[in-house]
Amino acid sequence: MLKFTPILLAILYALAMYRFSVWRTTRELDTQSTELADPVLKRMTDQLASALDLPRVRVHIYEIDPVNGLAAPDGRIFITRGFYRKFKTGEVSAEEMASVIAHELGHVALGHSRRRMIDFSGQNALRTALAMLLSRFLPGIGVWIANGLTTLLAARLSRGDEYEADAYAAALLTKAGIGTAPQKSLFKKLEALTSGAGGAMPAWLLSHPKTDERIAAIETLETRWQQSLS
Ligand SMILES: [Zn+2]
Repeated sequence: MLKFTPILLAILYALAMYRFSVWRTTRELDTQSTELADPVLKRMTDQLASALDLPRVRVHIYEIDPVNGLAAPDGRIFITRGFYRKFKTGEVSAEEMASVIAHELGHVALGHSRRRMIDFSGQNALRTALAMLLSRFLPGIGVWIANGLTTLLAARLSRGDEYEADAYAAALLTKAGIGTAPQKSLFKKLEALTSGAGGAMPAWLLSHPKTDERIAAIETLETRWQQSLS
């Protein structure tokens, strides 16, 4: 019994952490966000809205620095303050911001947003539990392995969703007259923007969707659409 106590504790801890982080994330999104009011981006979201036959597409700014976009289970779309800053400095264009919003709309429309929320908040709990467990057997490197395994698992779970949301965004951007070029150029920029953050991880553990493969998937779609038109 004593042998399994740490495992049980880790599972209980993870469960508690998970419930707490879902609550905290929802609360934080409510309190740490404001509706995006940018005239240039409003033109972009209006183009997306009319392609979708919606009166408007609402976007919120989430007050954190890491460059990211997310879709809440209630269907709200968030762009982080850090991402919006990249737009204000001119590093990311309005069309590229539109491609992120279209991607997040894809997650909402395809029902991924709930699962994404679980990934978002559950990842931390799993990481902590694994680190606790592995550190008992592998002091020092246990935390590293836990980090790597969690990232790998999360990447595997979300990879399919990412390709689906990309395909949705490509179709929407095409219909809205924005096109897929900003989608592809942003992938390349994001790779450069986020390469610093994961730098400490061993290369073989890194498994986020590959930029080249995401671009290739969009190009395959475009070829198929062109063929169906001709
Ligand atoms: Zn996504």
